[in-house]
Amino acid sequence: MRLVLLDVDMTLISAAGAGIASLEGAVLELFGVERAFEGVEFAGRTDSMIVESALTAKGIEASDGNLSRVRSEYIRRLSRTLSGGWPVRVLDGVPALLELLSQRKDACFGLVTGNWKEGAFLKLAACGIDGCFRFGSFAESGRTRNELIPHALSGAERFCGCTLDPGDVWVVGDTPHDVASGKAWGLRTMAVATGPYGVGDLEAAGADAAVPDLSDTDLVAGILLGRQGRP
Ligand SMILES: [Mg+2]
Repeated sequence: MRLVLLDVDMTLISAAGAGIASLEGAVLELFGVERAFEGVEFAGRTDSMIVESALTAKGIEASDGNLSRVRSEYIRRLSRTLSGGWPVRVLDGVPALLELLSQRKDACFGLVTGNWKEGAFLKLAACGIDGCFRFGSFAESGRTRNELIPHALSGAERFCGCTLDPGDVWVVGDTPHDVASGKAWGLRTMAVATGPYGVGDLEAAGADAAVPDLSDTDLVAGILLGRQGRP
């Protein structure tokens, strides 16, 4: 059985800044701080870490209580933002790849994302692909991306009803953090240059395969389902 674990932002979809706008709004509402996320690194990090960095930088205690308040307000705002016609979009090739994978009896796929679960599904729903996913690992399952992987693997094994070999698992994401999280657990990694990093950066980060985007379904599926780490 082959398993494909997919990142959300800038791998499957672009939420066009809806997440950042909703986080900024939440922190302004709760703590009266404007542009709290300016200069905070987003790509490849979990929502909890992102909020923790922003609060700490602004001298606000990053307590569990404060993180939970930001999370609730963020989800409320994200839902409102996305239902108001925000220009989210599914990235090229994603629907065709998900369709192909869902038809394969020897493959399954799930999510591994730094989004809080509810936020991930709000974004995926706004792009019309939320119904494709049956399991995943989210910001609630770990503070760093590396910590999300075991939860994704155990969810996949429960869903597939089999034990997975690490060599049969691919992590697909758009940042060096995605690549590092897969490598940390001995998994294969495909990096996609639809986010802030180019193919060269992602190859330098050690990705087993790096592609400009997911639009070439035959190429991408050939890598993910084939025997070789490179085309
Ligand atoms: Mg991403």
